[in-house]
Amino acid sequence: MAEKLIDAYSRIARKLRISITDRCNFACLFCMPEKNKVKWIPKEDILTFEEIERLTRLFVKLGIEKVRITGGEPLMRKDVEKLVAMLAAIPGIKALDMTTNGWFLAEKAYKLREAGLRGVTVSLHSLRRDRFAKISGIDALDRVVQGIDKAIEAGLAPVKINSVAIAGYNDDEMIELVDFARKRNISIRFIEFMPLDGLGVWSQDKMIKGEEIIRIVSAKYRLIPKGREAGDTATLYDFEDRIGEIGVITPMSNPFCDTCDRIRLTADGKLLTCLFDTRYNDLKSFMRKGLSDSELESYIKKYVYMKPPGIAYMPWIKTGWEKPRAMHAIGG
Ligand code: SAM
Ligand code: SF4
Repeated sequence: MAEKLIDAYSRIARKLRISITDRCNFACLFCMPEKNKVKWIPKEDILTFEEIERLTRLFVKLGIEKVRITGGEPLMRKDVEKLVAMLAAIPGIKALDMTTNGWFLAEKAYKLREAGLRGVTVSLHSLRRDRFAKISGIDALDRVVQGIDKAIEAGLAPVKINSVAIAGYNDDEMIELVDFARKRNISIRFIEFMPLDGLGVWSQDKMIKGEEIIRIVSAKYRLIPKGREAGDTATLYDFEDRIGEIGVITPMSNPFCDTCDRIRLTADGKLLTCLFDTRYNDLKSFMRKGLSDSELESYIKKYVYMKPPGIAYMPWIKTGWEKPRAMHAIGG
């Protein structure tokens, strides 16, 4: 029986998101800072595959069951399939998935599947070429669609779509995006725009609430609510004909912090126990100073215990949010 990673509010961490790079070939307006203002993590500070594997092994020993590889753009990391194989081989991992922008997916899908990746979530915020380019900073719609189809063909499962809903950008495309996913019988999740963007463009009126998205989609489809499982981020709905699935992720309008079971490891080896925390607990330095596995485990347990209660209780809610990092450097 694995030991448990428990916090002061009795939540048990079961899912780990590992950012393996902060670099990205896209420049999504809700994520990246301006090109000349990006401060990339220096190469020497990025965890090696061996370091990621060592820490993941410890996390799994401490009760983590599901691991998601993210970034930046994780498929930009050279030989990423080697890392996938190393992580997939860790005894006790029940699911290994990845979130990607899809650019390299068509060429990597089979290799990733063979290496032991289970599923892939691909971000797709518009189906109109010019709009895709405006939102993601690159003319890549066709290539991303090819990536999604190749992932399905390669047998990665589940394949899901993530769409950040932004007023004035893609709010008139909800039905088209839903139909795109239904055509492939896959799940689509709309995420509320969070104030973790590098450009500082976030504002309340650019955010489309989950309930509004459900209202829009319900005008075409009868949705059958499935609810949100404890620990999950998405509130899910089936379609009447059971083809595809839709979810809304509502960290802003209806936070799910009280059952949160996720923790994050950044590309430079910092343990972040909440997306909105400002404390980055440096495991890499400890590891590089030569601490033993049991010493590292003690630090991991201590930091998880200090996980904040949730977004509504953050001290900065009153004083204003000075985000220490943009989304590409956290991992989403
Ligand atoms: N590059 C990969 C991608 O885009 O899928 C993985 C990293 S990205 C940071 C992880 C997820 O966070 C993506 O689905 C992305 O759309 C989402 N995301 C980025 N910035 C966001 C924001 N400010 N609010 C909500 N979701 C955001
Ligand atoms: Fe890159 Fe993903 Fe951020 Fe877009 S959301 S800039 S694809 S890391």
